[in-house]
Amino acid sequence: MPDPAPTALPVDEARHWSRLMQMAELGAIPGPSPEDRGVNRPCLSPLDREARRLLIRWAGTVGLTVSIDEIGNLFLRHEGTDPSAAPVLSGSHMDSQPNGGRFDGIWGVLAAFEAVQAIRDAGIATRRPIEVVAWTNEEGGRFAPGCMGSMAWAGIEPPSAWDAVTDTAGTTFRQALDEHLAAEADLPRRALGPTGGPSGRAPHAYVEAHIEQGPLLEAEGLDIGVVSGIQGSRWFTVEISGKTDHAGTAPLRLRQDAVQDMLRAITALNALTHDPADVLRFTVGKVEVLPNSSNTVADTARFSVDLRHPDATVLMARGDAIAGVVQAAVRHCRATVRERFHALPTTFDPRVPEAVERAAASLGLRARRLASGAFHDAQFVGSVCPSGMIFVPSRAGISHHPAEYTSSAQLAAGTRALAATLLDLAQS
Ligand SMILES: [Zn+2]
Repeated sequence: MPDPAPTALPVDEARHWSRLMQMAELGAIPGPSPEDRGVNRPCLSPLDREARRLLIRWAGTVGLTVSIDEIGNLFLRHEGTDPSAAPVLSGSHMDSQPNGGRFDGIWGVLAAFEAVQAIRDAGIATRRPIEVVAWTNEEGGRFAPGCMGSMAWAGIEPPSAWDAVTDTAGTTFRQALDEHLAAEADLPRRALGPTGGPSGRAPHAYVEAHIEQGPLLEAEGLDIGVVSGIQGSRWFTVEISGKTDHAGTAPLRLRQDAVQDMLRAITALNALTHDPADVLRFTVGKVEVLPNSSNTVADTARFSVDLRHPDATVLMARGDAIAGVVQAAVRHCRATVRERFHALPTTFDPRVPEAVERAAASLGLRARRLASGAFHDAQFVGSVCPSGMIFVPSRAGISHHPAEYTSSAQLAAGTRALAATLLDLAQS
């Protein structure tokens, strides 16, 4: 008897979709139609815990072993015939953006779960263990920056690095994490880091399934994106400090108007980041003005800068120039530039994208290689073990919004590709 072909893995589309929709109820945002309902599930919130408990209940019925680490990363382990072999790791995150969709992150966790269940349902014993992971705080929506769980796991920062980070209610990350760990005190603990699992070995490979969050796959009529790497990001906060004045009485020549200097700074940054090839991404997405009154000259203006590029040299050079360009642009106020987050571009070890490509081809799925424009946990996990990602199409490229949508059939295709990839890696 030949080994069963990957097409034989019994991924159950209806079960998979039903689980996704049950998760979408936890933090549901009502929408104009059933296809436009969103999710608001902040990390380490009671809703986040409810979602984790639901997943843990399902894991119990399937027979996976649960453990968590000191930053709340959740692991569900399918044992291998060689329990000491380096495990194959697959998952994503369960938190959402405040006005987020039903698929970003959570699909990658449930896809890994369904893939493992399909392998078990097929009666296949894998040589390597397979672990499903849900990383803590990928989105950075409640506590910035994102990807804290995977960064701490990969040893890039200790969990204590974010102790003082606060959410808008003034709760610190440390308080939220301690509360969360107390609520999950009944769950077995594992040591933080790549060798913290029962195998005591760093993962053999990591595969993250995720919606594309961009328009390419849909536009090209494809099923699968084989992700070759992730562009780098640098985030800054620029603060312009001037002097408040009455809008009716203060002559313009005597003002230190923070808004006017902010406009000069942003205009100069537009020139700095101009890229005729349209590869560089420069965004000012958040602006705060104080006192934010229509008849008062602002004394403070604060804005965010999000800079991304797949080439580390360009990312470093343009990012390093930001402070100088801002200082040269402001005319009447003082400016400070602070870097809040920094992730270098990642090129995935070719072994994982090649395994994804083989899996997609064996299932007759239409696939192409692409780089991820958004950052993901795989960026940090990739510094520890060979990693890669599987994208499925996002309707109109929309994400971080209730209109985010991928059909049940498209998700099931991605999960079949993931299952075949995990099986391939777990038998090697
Ligand atoms: Zn995500």
